[in-house]
Amino acid sequence: MKIKVRTQKDFEWVNWTPKKIEEYVDRLVEQLKKDITDIIVILKEDRTFENTVFAISCAGHVTHEDNPVLFLEYVSTKEPVRNAARVARQKAEKESIEIMHDKKIYDAFMEYNPKTETLNSEEVRLHRDMKLGFERSGFNLPEKTRNILKKLQQNNNKWSSDFTANISNYHDCILCTKEDLDGLPEGYIANLEKDKKTGKYMVTLAYPEYIPFMDFAINRKKRKELADKASQKGGNKNIALLKKILPTRHEMAKILGYKNYAEYSEELMMAKNPTNVKNFLTKIIQDLKPIAGKEFKELKTFAEKNLGIQDLSYYDSSFVYTKLQEKTFSFDENEVKEYFEINTVLYGMFGHFSEMFGVSFKKNTNIKTWDKEVLFFDVVENSKVISHVGFDLYPRKGKFSHMACWYLMGGESVTFRTKEHKAPVSFIVGNFPKGTKKNPSLLSADEIQTLFHEFGHAMHGCLSHTQFFDQCGLNVVCDFVEVPSQLFENWARDKKFLKKVSKHFKTGEQISNQLLDGLVASFSFRKASSYYGTFTMSLMDLEMHTTKSDVDTLVLAKSYNKKYGFLKPSPKSLFPAGWGHLNEYAAKYYSYMWSIVYSCDIFSRFEKEGIYNKKLGKELRTKILAPGNTQDAEHLLRDFLGRESNNEAFLKALGIDDTKKMDTEKYPK
Ligand SMILES: [Zn+2]
Repeated sequence: MKIKVRTQKDFEWVNWTPKKIEEYVDRLVEQLKKDITDIIVILKEDRTFENTVFAISCAGHVTHEDNPVLFLEYVSTKEPVRNAARVARQKAEKESIEIMHDKKIYDAFMEYNPKTETLNSEEVRLHRDMKLGFERSGFNLPEKTRNILKKLQQNNNKWSSDFTANISNYHDCILCTKEDLDGLPEGYIANLEKDKKTGKYMVTLAYPEYIPFMDFAINRKKRKELADKASQKGGNKNIALLKKILPTRHEMAKILGYKNYAEYSEELMMAKNPTNVKNFLTKIIQDLKPIAGKEFKELKTFAEKNLGIQDLSYYDSSFVYTKLQEKTFSFDENEVKEYFEINTVLYGMFGHFSEMFGVSFKKNTNIKTWDKEVLFFDVVENSKVISHVGFDLYPRKGKFSHMACWYLMGGESVTFRTKEHKAPVSFIVGNFPKGTKKNPSLLSADEIQTLFHEFGHAMHGCLSHTQFFDQCGLNVVCDFVEVPSQLFENWARDKKFLKKVSKHFKTGEQISNQLLDGLVASFSFRKASSYYGTFTMSLMDLEMHTTKSDVDTLVLAKSYNKKYGFLKPSPKSLFPAGWGHLNEYAAKYYSYMWSIVYSCDIFSRFEKEGIYNKKLGKELRTKILAPGNTQDAEHLLRDFLGRESNNEAFLKALGIDDTKKMDTEKYPK
């Protein structure tokens, strides 16, 4: 396979000014108009797959080709650029809906007869998916109805984008004296900025500051203060936006002939419909509730007996959990961290997956990006570059505040039916703790797993070269996309791997077996409780996207807490306001848990045949990662497993006992 390697020219946009971004989007929109006109004017008898189906698929990629602009919104170091990128993206989306809404495009597509040519399976699939896409966009509806739909789509896009921006731009902090920070490690304190007026330490809502504070700060009052602030993330603005977004989505779905938005959103997924999703979620919730309840009681008793906390509250649970974990497995999380310096872990991860996939990772300093701390690597196979992966690891003001992997550029064919492919580019954007003068960036076990999770996404993108962009790597159905990522996490929990990448930042020593044993044993600690939370939230997302009438998200969130929660939330909580996934996943939040069923099943083969089995690693690459969306996910799983997939490994991981497993219907299918 010939690969067209990416160069600095592909990254020209990193230094664009707001004006240039604006001009670019205008150019992009003009180009789209021209491309569409060119497709429409072709005579019926001259229509081919290339000049019609393939051409429409390329023209429809305004948002894809405009990805760099979208990306700057999240990573640029300059606020005006981030703002310009957001406005430009909204404009591109609005205009592309306007242009792609022209019924003449659908007519052109329908004029093409696939029987006139011999198409390969990927082409047949692209044609089928495009037809579905047109129907799901309402092209078979009368013009008047389509115009109403268009307006709704545009509003939904705009409000969704604002919702995300309100979360990214939401900043708040508490002010602490040195004593208020009791329990937190020196390295953490050294990283905190000080308030200019009071000289006090500022603890913000950014993950590397928020999470350790809730885990370790002894000062209960301060934990409450920070938790209350975090519970308001997104603010009332986002509650107001949800009041508009959810009914708009419902209306869109109704126009298209679906009962509700969830039915529309899940139609093409592995799960197929809300009934399957609801069954999947409620059955597991039923199984998990007693286990989670028991685990909660243990936490409460421990808090009372060992920590003198008689009224365990929402701002205590992380702290008490950490203490209970330390006591149960006799290790201190901050002591463990000192063995895991980010670069050692990163290169250790490269080493491991190099062996598994038969590739290597070579630092590429020729590509300059938006920040000097960004790392960029070539993925090399047989001395040839096949793809690229970048890492923007540390928090910055205004940067995307979660952890994610962007599929920035795809590995599709350079031109129609050529064997030459573009080198895909995946980019991991993280918020890992930054190093200080005293210590380098040190990772907790959770953070190592997160890094592996995102790297799973990155490799799904990097190891896939397909004919069409729509079928590359990460462009799979949403309830399969988290399979590789959650699968990769398993290696970050492996004793042998952790030992190998451990190196104390001061002494250079490897982690002791005693400390490591405690750490590894802790991975299955209270797993049911953490899954239980995701399951109940998935059910809430489903309900928010199935409810017919105007849903009050704050009231619904409270009712869920009453029904499923064990602790009352902050009275100030605006919970759904800061829940980015509710907006972005839109009735598909369940997909994390749905995907994990399959990642557990895939990993069970590694457990049987050796988790460092290179042959199996290659199989994973060719049968699960490389095909991307060229085949149905069910087919890929069957091919890799050599049987139908089942939920046994998943139930085992959740600690649901064997007798129950026998009674439980197999789900998902
Ligand atoms: Zn993920």
